[in-house]
Amino acid sequence: MVFQDPNESLNPRLSIRQTLREPLQLHGLYAGDQQLSEAVLRVNLDEEHLDRLPHQLSGGQKQRVGVARAMVTQPRLVILDEPTSSLDMSLRIHVIVLLKKLQREFNLSYVFISHDLSTIRHLCDRVLVMYLGRIVEQGRTADVYDDPTHVYTKALLSAIPIPDPAVKRSRILLKGETPTARVLVPGCPLQDRCGFVTEECRSPVPDYDLGNGHRVACRLARDHPAYRSAVTLTPAGSSS
Ligand code: SF4
Repeated sequence: MVFQDPNESLNPRLSIRQTLREPLQLHGLYAGDQQLSEAVLRVNLDEEHLDRLPHQLSGGQKQRVGVARAMVTQPRLVILDEPTSSLDMSLRIHVIVLLKKLQREFNLSYVFISHDLSTIRHLCDRVLVMYLGRIVEQGRTADVYDDPTHVYTKALLSAIPIPDPAVKRSRILLKGETPTARVLVPGCPLQDRCGFVTEECRSPVPDYDLGNGHRVACRLARDHPAYRSAVTLTPAGSSS
């Protein structure tokens, strides 16, 4: 796993060498310091960094140590929890390019947890949009970004800034603040903030299948052409 803040997730008393050796030893995979040299070189650090303490590294270098530590045991799956949110924009781009390179080289799967919608689009093949702990829309990244259907997904995507002052995007604004996730309401979790709410939204909303794994838990998905045509094609007597 790669954690959000490397200042919190690296032990300040352990050198980078010790930090990288520890997971190998715990898994019975340690075969010599050559593995540690390869681990730092893989994330574009130098071997001389192995004998430094975390406070002797920059923020971007620390996060690369976090990535190296997650990869050193050669996992098949890496969970990344907001791995770039503590970094400024230029360092963020370096880490994202690095993650993409490692993903290709080692044929890795990532579960990438983030609020950074631009990075998700760049890095992920599939996306799950969650609100108050529930999945409200999921599908291939291109399908969700090019054709968002849940009101929450539309609101999120409409908030991404466009770096062109001549282009104006119409925003979908949600009312009020995000409520606590501790009180689960029946029906759509967005019902108190959505401008399209009807009485129907206060009962459990099914997951509508728009094809290719694009699924949406919003009543508006019934008006989507993909859902309508699927319903039309369903033989009489079977449920859609
Ligand atoms: S199900 Fe209803 S309340 Fe929920 S997002 Fe869709 S329209 Fe809005």
